[in-house]
Amino acid sequence: MCLENNPNLVDSFGRIAKKLRISITDRCNMQCVYCMPSNNTNWLEQDNLLTYEQITRLAKIFVSLGIQKIKITGGEPTVRGNVEDLVKSLSSIEGLRSVTLTTNGILLKNKIKILKESGLDSINISLDTFKPDRFKAMSGIDGFYKVMDAINTALDENLPVKINTVIMRGWNDDEISHFVRFSRETGCIVKFIEFMPLDGTGIWSKGLVVSKKEMIEKINNDFCKLNPIGNDKADPARLYSFEDGKGTLGFIPSITEPFCQNCDRVRITADGRLYTCLFEKKNYDLKRLLDEGKSDAEISEYIRKCITEKPEGIIKIIRKHDLRPTINVMNTIGG
Ligand code: SAM
Ligand code: SF4
Repeated sequence: MCLENNPNLVDSFGRIAKKLRISITDRCNMQCVYCMPSNNTNWLEQDNLLTYEQITRLAKIFVSLGIQKIKITGGEPTVRGNVEDLVKSLSSIEGLRSVTLTTNGILLKNKIKILKESGLDSINISLDTFKPDRFKAMSGIDGFYKVMDAINTALDENLPVKINTVIMRGWNDDEISHFVRFSRETGCIVKFIEFMPLDGTGIWSKGLVVSKKEMIEKINNDFCKLNPIGNDKADPARLYSFEDGKGTLGFIPSITEPFCQNCDRVRITADGRLYTCLFEKKNYDLKRLLDEGKSDAEISEYIRKCITEKPEGIIKIIRKHDLRPTINVMNTIGG
């Protein structure tokens, strides 16, 4: 049976969910200025987290409903023990095309080999600056060299690496060219992310957002011409390559060119709540269904119903001129 002709997770706007992001912890060893609430101690109780067995069961149900790709995220997924065990069970799910992970890279270096052996297809490593002092100012910890070491180890191990970079005006927008050179020299895709109002700190403002357009103008001034690659419309990153073939860049223009009409993602938090949109507070408690002993068929039916309620997205908030800081908080909902 062809899933394209028989979409199971379809919302009221006709969008089909194909990608699932699973947050496995809300905790983190960093405190990024655009994400984590300051001095956060309001963590989820360990007893309330989904176990890896529960996550795998839910993942299998989602895959049976048409999910093709899973990304493990957080919080910082490497601070939860043995994430490789989860990678192993997820990557053995029949019908799933890829399992990837997003990490800040601090604890990554010694895990790369085992993650790859466990079936990890690729990794997104977040890096917002090449300046060690600025790294500390943006993330609260002195970790620049650890992250660079992890990136280099992943490249040596031939694990495909993408770099996630949140650009904030006045914080790191003067380093765009450095990231471009990094992509051209290493071959890593660098994805520039517009700062979204998913900050726990309440600092988000339109003025801090550097638009995709502005970034491309700057890059075109400093390098040879960038051309769009014309990638999958559902991928939030608009991909570009340079005329001379060196380097690939992605831009995630959530604020200035929202891509809600093509959204194919849904998310589960570490405590098992399903979020159908990053910018919607409403969520659905899947852990309760697991705890109540519901069958796979009952859980599938519930998920299908939840997806029908997926809202239009940030595009509606922008239309209503209702953008404000902290619509949701990234470390809990998962990036
Ligand atoms: N801790 C991991 C990390 O930092 O890569 C995974 C979780 S983090 C929430 C996932 C991604 O979301 C990271 O690349 C991070 O830079 C990005 N992110 C967090 N807050 C953001 C915000 N307010 N706007 C845009 N991207 C954000
Ligand atoms: Fe932690 Fe990632 Fe949020 Fe930074 S972006 S505070 S590393 S969860």
